[in-house]
Parts: sequence; structure tokens; C-alpha cells
Amino acid sequence: MAIQTHRLISPAPGTQRELISLHYGQTGGQKAYIQASLHADELPGMLVAYHLRKKLDALQAAGRISGEVILVPMANPIGLSQHLLYMHMGRFETQTGENFNRHYPEQTEAVAAAVEAELNGDAAHNVKVIRRELKKAVDASPAHTELQSQRRILMSLSCDADIVLDLHCDAQAVMHLYTETPCWPECDALARFLRSRVTLLAQDSGDNPFDEACSQIWWKLKAKFGERFAIPQACLSVTVELRGAVDVTHTLAEQDAQHIIDFLAHRGLISGDSPALPEAVGDARPLAGSMPIKATTTGVLSFLREVGETVQAGDVLAHVICPISATVTELKSPVDGLFFARDFLRFATAGMNVAKVAGKEATRTGKLLSA
Ligand SMILES: [Zn+2]
Repeated sequence: MAIQTHRLISPAPGTQRELISLHYGQTGGQKAYIQASLHADELPGMLVAYHLRKKLDALQAAGRISGEVILVPMANPIGLSQHLLYMHMGRFETQTGENFNRHYPEQTEAVAAAVEAELNGDAAHNVKVIRRELKKAVDASPAHTELQSQRRILMSLSCDADIVLDLHCDAQAVMHLYTETPCWPECDALARFLRSRVTLLAQDSGDNPFDEACSQIWWKLKAKFGERFAIPQACLSVTVELRGAVDVTHTLAEQDAQHIIDFLAHRGLISGDSPALPEAVGDARPLAGSMPIKATTTGVLSFLREVGETVQAGDVLAHVICPISATVTELKSPVDGLFFARDFLRFATAGMNVAKVAGKEATRTGKLLSA
């Protein structure tokens, strides 16, 4: 295994952060890229990365890694150092307020111009050409700040991968995934191996999160060039929500790491016996049908239902209680669906999204991701 160190732009003289990537297997075949804790305060992924590292070390020693696997166990060195009054602030950069998982640069037009003359009817040839130019475009993209340089490093490591897994978590949640709709045919197997209860599908959900920055180039180029060239969806890129923020246990993390290894074996990046494809325990639904449950008033939040339950439209999921007036406000599900995530805060402020229910019908429009 090789360890690479990537230096971020220095935020101030005498100060320097670095990002570490672990490299297994060999280049030239399929490539998987896995990163943990891009939202630096979401820790389940870091523990999964620890267990993945041990498993990958053993597989490497046994000569069983036939593809290339890059593991970035701590993907956000900037966010790791952000604390306020003993609270870890890992979702937004405190300098700019920007979400660490948004605003990855769009490279489609630059790549389209660079590759058009070389593309033809051979999909494998086109994949090689597009990846070469995409990598060039990413490496040449401007980065003036520490945050921009962190985004560029992560994109440079991942943009030419066949498989990209971005390990996150929700506040309190069941295992669930986000991916772009064109990735779903390949994501189905990952969802089965990870025992994911729901995969939320969207295309260009807004503000360019990391996973979409990796997968969008393929369907966008295909849409741009139409039938002129053979362009497959050559990158399966998925945001993996490893349940809730305090689901940080060796038992869960070791299982999740093994499930990722099983998926990589299923995909042919690890040689030897390939595990059987598990039965699905969930399904895919439109992100536009994932309904936020909003607190309409301020008070103590008490949930009546648990994540993982199937709920009906009109079911009361939570109460917001004012102890002074003794009023109780009911928060109801607007749809039939899977109650898959809820906040861990128990003081709700008016307007706050406190839970999510995944319905089967797409009903929302506009930007689909939370802040
Ligand atoms: Zn996250």
C-alpha cells in the first residue's frame, strides 16, 4: 500500500494542512475511490475506513486486489479543525459558510471541447479519452483558497474512477443512499450489499455535491453528443449515509466495511470467491419525493415514530410542545412512505426541518438537497 500526502493551499503563513490517501492494488484496471467524513463531524465513515484499511491490508498481502482502490479516511482536514465552544462544526466552512459537500466545479464543457475530435463509436476508447481530459481539466481548474484546493485534490483523486463512494451519515437514520438516476442500474447491487433501505435518485439535484460532480460528466456528455458517440455511464458515484451520527460502533463499521469489500469483489476489483448478491431490503425512490417535515412552531420536539417505520399520509410523526402555554403542535407526514431520517436535536425552532419521509412520487421541484 502506498501513502500519498496532498498539501492544501496554506490558509496563512506558517500554517499548512494536508490530506492523506491510501493506495491499494494497481492502476490500469477498474478503479474504486472511497472517502470518509467529507462532512468532518460525520464519524461513522471514518470508523468504516479504519476497518476497510485493515481488510484491504489483508487482501493486498494475499495478492487479491486486482483493481485499484484509493481510500481517503479523513476527507476534510479543514473541517476537522473547526470547533466552536466545544462543538464540532464539520458541515460548513466557517470562513465562507459554504457546505463542504457542495460547489464542486463543473467540467463538462471544457471536457467536451477537448474530446470531441477524438470520440467515436467505441465506448471503451471514449471512456479512456474522456477520463484523460477530465483529469487534466480538474488539475488545471483554478484554486485560490484552502477550501478550493481541498475540493480540487478530492476531485483529482476520484474523477477517473469507475466507482466512487462518499461515506456520510444523517442525524438519526436508517442506512440509505443518494445517487444520480443514470447510476441506479449499477447502484442496485451496492444497495443490496449495504442493506440500504432506500436509494434517493435525482439528476442534477442542485449546487453540485461531490458524488454528482463525479458522475454527471458521463450523462451530460451523452446528452450533449446524442447518438454521435458511444458514451456509457462510466462512473457509479454514490453518497452512502451510514445511518445516524452516533452509530459509530465497531460492530456496524466492521459489517459495513465487509459489505463494501463484498461489493468490490462482486464488481471484480477483488479476486477470489465473489459473494452472492443479497436480496434487496429497500428500493429506489425519487429524491423529489423525499419530503422534509418542518416544525411550524418553536418548542420541545418529541418524536412519536422511529426511523425505519413505514408511515401513512397524515400520521403524526412528532409533537412540538410549548410547556408555558401547554400547547401541542402535531407534525404529520404529508405522504405515504419510509420515515428514514430525523434530527437529533430536541428543541425545534419554527421553520426547521426535523425529519424526512421518502415517498414514491416526485412532488418537489428546485434544489432538492438540504443546506
Ligand atoms: Zn454528510
